Amino acid sequence: MKFGIKVKSIETFILCDKLKESFYFSQWEYSERRICIVKITSDSGHVGWGEGYGPAGIIKAGIEHLTPYVLNQNALETETIWGTLYRRTLDFARRGILVSAISAIDVALWDLKGKILQQPVHLLLGGKKRNKIIPYATGMYFTKRENMKEGLCEEAKKYADKGFKAMKMKVGIGIEEDIENVRLLREAIGPKIRLMIDANHAYNLREAVQLAKAVEPYDISWFEEPISPEYYDQYAELRSKTFIPISGGECEYLRFGFQTLLQSKSVDIIQPDICSTGGLTEAKRIGVLASTHGVEIVPHTWGTGIAFAAAAHFISNIDTMPGRLRTPECYIEMDRTENGLRDELTTSSMMNVIDGKITVSDEPGLGFELNEEALHKYAIKENGIPNLPLTEILKHQR
Ligand SMILES: [Mg+2]
Repeated sequence: MKFGIKVKSIETFILCDKLKESFYFSQWEYSERRICIVKITSDSGHVGWGEGYGPAGIIKAGIEHLTPYVLNQNALETETIWGTLYRRTLDFARRGILVSAISAIDVALWDLKGKILQQPVHLLLGGKKRNKIIPYATGMYFTKRENMKEGLCEEAKKYADKGFKAMKMKVGIGIEEDIENVRLLREAIGPKIRLMIDANHAYNLREAVQLAKAVEPYDISWFEEPISPEYYDQYAELRSKTFIPISGGECEYLRFGFQTLLQSKSVDIIQPDICSTGGLTEAKRIGVLASTHGVEIVPHTWGTGIAFAAAAHFISNIDTMPGRLRTPECYIEMDRTENGLRDELTTSSMMNVIDGKITVSDEPGLGFELNEEALHKYAIKENGIPNLPLTEILKHQR
């Protein structure tokens, strides 16, 4: 290559969208969406974008801490850089936010590599094994509305009307109310749409068994995070007591976390979040690990179109086991709750749901355009000034 391919700059942004209506789940309430994204530029002038899942301010500090180990490195050597970052953080953070910071950098480097080589990320991962992926709508969070139950059913019907073939609702508000909500929602959407439930680890084993048995008649495709992620043995016991598939893993980090999850036979489906579990480099290894255990993989995806695009390319590349002529469909999580960052920051054909499916992009990198106006609109401001890197402020003033 004639042009240089070294990493020239790394810039972090904290973006925030204050919600019109807050919503909550079994753990806490959301009144805003706040996310840290990272922009990596090569000396060839190409740009890659990444994002980290978790508390934005700490991820930003983590990325800034790791920046010296990435600057001036060969931008194409995603795995080499990943290895350096892992080694430099291992003594302090075998899991948690520093791994999210590594993830954000790694996703940006994959996007950048695709832009430099003018190839889509799915091809760089090894190839597109499927062009279409079924998005499932994530929504049906709890609200403070008086008519919350009706609202949940209306929301579900809205997704069905938009062509979604699968959706996931929240449980974890209390066993009896959960059962009622699931019953009403299944009645509202009818028998043909896949329905999943997610407790965000609200229950102990006894409660989780009680809820699982009670909702078995409503054709639940998986029960996500029924129990605290620390209790692997309890997950395994729950699995033995219900025929509803059990899923989890959005709180696990690195292939080592998933090795524990898989070896304990805790789940039927693992759900790594690419933007916190170690980026695309580590997600690929986790996918290999899942295939050795014969366990399905449906990534957890939350945040902006950057995270969604990373998940789409990853899913298009994963192996489904066992192989067969009629390959099973793969699913991608598509958060539908209020989020201006997700809706405005990026533009991508992959966000279009047509006949209940999305089509994986063949554009270079992760296949989205970043909207600079939205970046400035949502960048958090200090004393009325956008908290942006100086280079961005100067560019905006021109
Ligand atoms: Mg979840």
